[in-house]
Amino acid sequence: MQLSDIKKIAVIGCGTMGNGIAHVSAQNGYEITFIDIDEKYLEKAIATIAKNLDRMVKKEKITEQDKTDTLSRITTTTDLLAVKDCQLVIEAIVEKLDIKLGLFGKLDEICPPDTILASNTSSLPITKLASGTKRPGKVVGMHFMNPVPMMKLVEMIRGVATSDETFDIAIELGKKLGKIPVPSEDYPGFIANRVLLPMINEAIFALFEGVGTAEDIDTVMKLGMGHPMGPLTLADFIGLDVCLDILNVLFEGLGDPKYRPCPLLKKKVEAGYLGRKSGHGFFKY
Ligand code: NAD
Repeated sequence: MQLSDIKKIAVIGCGTMGNGIAHVSAQNGYEITFIDIDEKYLEKAIATIAKNLDRMVKKEKITEQDKTDTLSRITTTTDLLAVKDCQLVIEAIVEKLDIKLGLFGKLDEICPPDTILASNTSSLPITKLASGTKRPGKVVGMHFMNPVPMMKLVEMIRGVATSDETFDIAIELGKKLGKIPVPSEDYPGFIANRVLLPMINEAIFALFEGVGTAEDIDTVMKLGMGHPMGPLTLADFIGLDVCLDILNVLFEGLGDPKYRPCPLLKKKVEAGYLGRKSGHGFFKY
């Protein structure tokens, strides 16, 4: 198999990341089968993609025709069987190992043997996801960054069994989507979240212990360290549930107490304060 054999991509999960991945892939000419568990989530995701494309038309980055063509390449469905004529599946569902393993097992049964199964996981082991399939050589991590249409990086994760062919195709695809692929070994959190999440967690501990207000913590990191966004604003942007899931993966996977999630983060998630997507996190939206 080679990159040119990939014509149709299934994107599973139409939340924050799935809609960005579908957008960028469709904009670069791929037919997209966009799958989620509920049609109303898919409707919302398509509306978000249309709004983001509108913004690009206004900025004259794309034409009205590009927008129409991009949207026309995306087909939505709640039927997982629709993956069977796709040459690549990119999974972007919740960051829970048991749920992802269940999905990879089903995908392995439905998809033709050549289909590549990629995960956008932020932190979970690609090797483990691959072990639940009969095609471990065809499983790879493609960790896009949020917001996908804007961010240049895609972290490429190679599981123990990922074949050279699969890894090379994934890297070439990343480039074709206008991204810069950077390889990472398959350890919890890879490179990006191994470094980012402990910093975010420490900012939450600083708030929890009263070292500073949320505004002051973010201002220090913006003005003092040149970060474009403070760590608490960034946590709200990522989603506090996603942050907690990743910290749990680091904590359990690396066994070091320095990764324990701050109790304040757990409390926010229990309260349903998930950040920007729920209208309330460390800040209100
Ligand atoms: P999200 O909560 O915004 O969206 C998840 C979507 O998956 C929801 O629409 C949900 O209905 C759907 N879903 C859940 N189970 C499903 C199933 N079995 N089949 C089909 N759809 C299902 O989550 P997100 O922030 O988009 O994160 C998705 C993945 O991307 C996670 O693995 C996360 O770690 C990773 N990621 C997130 C970010 C970020 O900044 N949020 C960045 C990079 C990677």
